[in-house]
Amino acid sequence: MQTNFTAEQLRDPDTAASNQVLRTCVHCGFCTATCPTFVLLGDELDSPRGRIYLIKDMLEAGRPATKEVVQHVDRCLSCLACMTTCPSGVNYMHLVDHARTYIERTYRRPWHERALRRLLGTLLPRPALFRAALHGARFARPLAGLIQGDSPPAQRLRAMLRLAPRSVPAAPPLGETHPAQGARRGRVALLAGCAQQVLDPEINAATIRLLTRLGVEVLVPRQAGCCGALNHHMGQHDPAMAFARANIEAWNAEAEQGGLDAIVVNASGCGTTVKDYGFMFRTADPALREKAERVAGLALDITEFLARFGYAPTRPAPDLTVAYHSACSLQHGQRVTAEPKTLLARAGFRVVEPAEGHLCCGSAGTYNLLQPEIAARLRARKLGNLLATRADLIAAGNIGCLTQLGGDPPAGAADTTVLPVVHTVALLDWMAGGPMPAALAGRSTTAAALPVPAGAAV
Ligand code: SF4
Ligand code: SF4
Repeated sequence: MQTNFTAEQLRDPDTAASNQVLRTCVHCGFCTATCPTFVLLGDELDSPRGRIYLIKDMLEAGRPATKEVVQHVDRCLSCLACMTTCPSGVNYMHLVDHARTYIERTYRRPWHERALRRLLGTLLPRPALFRAALHGARFARPLAGLIQGDSPPAQRLRAMLRLAPRSVPAAPPLGETHPAQGARRGRVALLAGCAQQVLDPEINAATIRLLTRLGVEVLVPRQAGCCGALNHHMGQHDPAMAFARANIEAWNAEAEQGGLDAIVVNASGCGTTVKDYGFMFRTADPALREKAERVAGLALDITEFLARFGYAPTRPAPDLTVAYHSACSLQHGQRVTAEPKTLLARAGFRVVEPAEGHLCCGSAGTYNLLQPEIAARLRARKLGNLLATRADLIAAGNIGCLTQLGGDPPAGAADTTVLPVVHTVALLDWMAGGPMPAALAGRSTTAAALPVPAGAAV
């Protein structure tokens, strides 16, 4: 694609990077077929190619974002299905991240949107604040049905209350050092995350149990926290960079003190961002840039780490069929596709995959709160495909997907959430000697499973 930036514009490193991305696009449109918003809405401007044109025009003109550009960029899930499909290697992620930051700097949203975005950007990355907010939302939950109308604020409020858990799990303190059991065979830092440790603290607990049992020392440095993705995807550049920088410093300190084999991430949305720290800090001073690149190079999804390090179950295989939901951030953002399925199969589960596995479930960070209507349609479609596998449970490697797929159905919809939704690592830990995931309590794990549809097994 030909671009027309001036030399002055290209002195800005973000514009220069976007110029490179734009020039690799050959307008072929292959990406449109796998874009969830184009599949649902059928509007070229809600396809990757359409958005690329809109962003190009906005950046070249150097003018403030318009309402039209904001609407179509906001509807993008950042699911990155377009990057998997693109034959030219267009880095849409970096382009849309730049566009979101540009929009945040040049466009004044209605007051209620600004307030909601500020609220989400403040609460979600801070576990103590988020936990307090969830306790409040729990009491307000029954009021969701009283909120009338289809205005965006009403839809968003209903979505927030629907997604609020009925109870907030207790949060046992997460120690900083978890020694390996037996001889130490490895040493890793674990990203403890932010919203995940509030919504489901068992995910970190299962990860630590599993790793330490395998002989891996696990460190959770107190100075590390949110990866920055939540703010980053809302265009809130400065807080995103501050969170990322704190992690980079904390993990580098650990690497320098005792060496690190990996930085293990068990929320794939966060993993995609941590692996991109090198790019995010490409214009930082050389020392920080080097540290960011080191961290990005060490980051591994928990399933990548286990596939390389080794995993062996210790329990007999359960008679359970797992429908594996591949989170977009894992399959498109990190291109990790085989490892989770291979590990689940090694653990003794029958693994099946739903149709349209490339399509997003509608979670996408804060998307299901900011774009609840599209998110609800994607969720219903995803749940329909997952249920059609006739599996006993759903496994996924990202807290956003677990919350989206496991929450209540939209008002008036049939209750399709009949399957337990469990993090992949909780299943692996269970089969390696850990406790049964709470979501499976009361279910028979030895009864004859439902027949698996032809062609569904992997
Ligand atoms: S990131 Fe996802 S929603 Fe956005 S343009 Fe690409 S495929 Fe479409
Ligand atoms: S598939 Fe790639 S090259 Fe083709 S239009 Fe989409 S982004 Fe551009």
